[in-house]
Amino acid sequence: MSNIKGSYILVISVKKPIEKKIGSLGFISFSPGIYLYVGSAMNGIEQRVSRHLRKKKKKFWHIDYLLDDRNVEVIEVLYKESKKKEECIISRKISEFGIPINGFGSSDCKCKGHLYRIKNIKKLKDIKGLQKLRDVFT
Ligand SMILES: [Zn+2]
Repeated sequence: MSNIKGSYILVISVKKPIEKKIGSLGFISFSPGIYLYVGSAMNGIEQRVSRHLRKKKKKFWHIDYLLDDRNVEVIEVLYKESKKKEECIISRKISEFGIPINGFGSSDCKCKGHLYRIKNIKKLKDIKGLQKLRDVFT
């Protein structure tokens, strides 16, 4: 797999209640549970995702601040290949079953957020065309 372009979803586990300063958004409290973060990488998903998984880096995106916490772990990565950015379309679909963290990752679009807390991970199956990005973990 090399240089696939499109959108991706990070399935994130927050293991303990945490409060983090998320860049310009200020302090946000996260209760334990499963969160979904949607983004797109038109220069290559694999490269972007490995950046997300690296702990040591300069913080640039809101998600960098969250993933920096030791009680936060990416447990799965899904992606959808596309020529155009589809992150907001996917975000809207997640909003049907997830609770958005307002403003998180959505400074450049009209979505309420690109990070959602979800109760039922099985709902992800309603979003068509997602594949697992397995080789990140192997
Ligand atoms: Zn959006």
